[in-house]
Amino acid sequence: MAIYNLGSINIDHVYRLSALPRPGETLHAQSYTQGLGGKGANQSVAAARAGANVVHLGAMGMGDDWVLGRLAAAGVQTSAIARLPDIATGHAIILVDATGENSIVLYGGANLALPTDLTNRIEFGPDDFLLMQNETSLQAETAARAREAGARVIYSAAPFSIAALREVLSHVSILAVNDVEARDTFAALGEDLPVDGLLITRGADGAEFRDKRSGRIWRQPAYTVQAVDTTGAGDCFTGWFTAGLSRGEDIPSALRHAAAAAALQVTRKGAGDAMPDRDEVLTFLN
Ligand code: ATP
Repeated sequence: MAIYNLGSINIDHVYRLSALPRPGETLHAQSYTQGLGGKGANQSVAAARAGANVVHLGAMGMGDDWVLGRLAAAGVQTSAIARLPDIATGHAIILVDATGENSIVLYGGANLALPTDLTNRIEFGPDDFLLMQNETSLQAETAARAREAGARVIYSAAPFSIAALREVLSHVSILAVNDVEARDTFAALGEDLPVDGLLITRGADGAEFRDKRSGRIWRQPAYTVQAVDTTGAGDCFTGWFTAGLSRGEDIPSALRHAAAAAALQVTRKGAGDAMPDRDEVLTFLN
């Protein structure tokens, strides 16, 4: 039993400046940090720190070995990550001004050039989960194969694209969206989606899970914390929620653990590097 995560791997380059540069302007940054990011890597780390057996399916350029080390240290299996010779590892250039406002340049790089046979070799089984976000290629074909084998497909529709959602939706078991993405989805497709479950996160207003078969809705309030950086909160929640389901937890328990993990995550700076582990979450809940 495994969570296969077909997901992006990014390096986040974060520059803090007094103000964001205007066109033609050059400014000195006050600080620079480099971290692990990408919605895929974030969710893999979150699910692995939650104790799940996570196999990351993705690609990187050459020469960024620390990224693989960081994933492996979190417990993520990295053997199905392809190393591509002629393309850069996906990355984000993130500029943050003194007020916390940001400007971001995202380069998909290797994430959008996955070898076409990357996921063909995976033998999905009925106890497996396939987790996906909208930052890599190969989504529809991999989701179709996983679903055919009886695996559950959990899709984070972010960054949101209605065209991408339409392409995968018939293979998706659980759709995970934030409140803005939920509104966009309902506006385009209506509320009666062809999925078994719908997970909607609403930042500090918590989250809800709608079970389409029974019509039941579970609501999970957010835990009150002093948030310092909410980057990756949704990834933390989705990773932990998937890990909970893969461990056989019921929906309320998976939601509670995910909300606690995301609450801890927003009290720390960073994305992938800020995901809490199981002991931290259990201590927080006690
Ligand atoms: P991001 O794009 O930043 O990763 P998102 O929009 O996908 O985030 P959110 O809905 O903002 O995801 O947050 C996911 C979950 O994280 C929420 O349902 C909540 O449990 C938790 N969370 C987010 N912000 C806070 C906060 N300020 N305090 C406590 N919990 C929070």
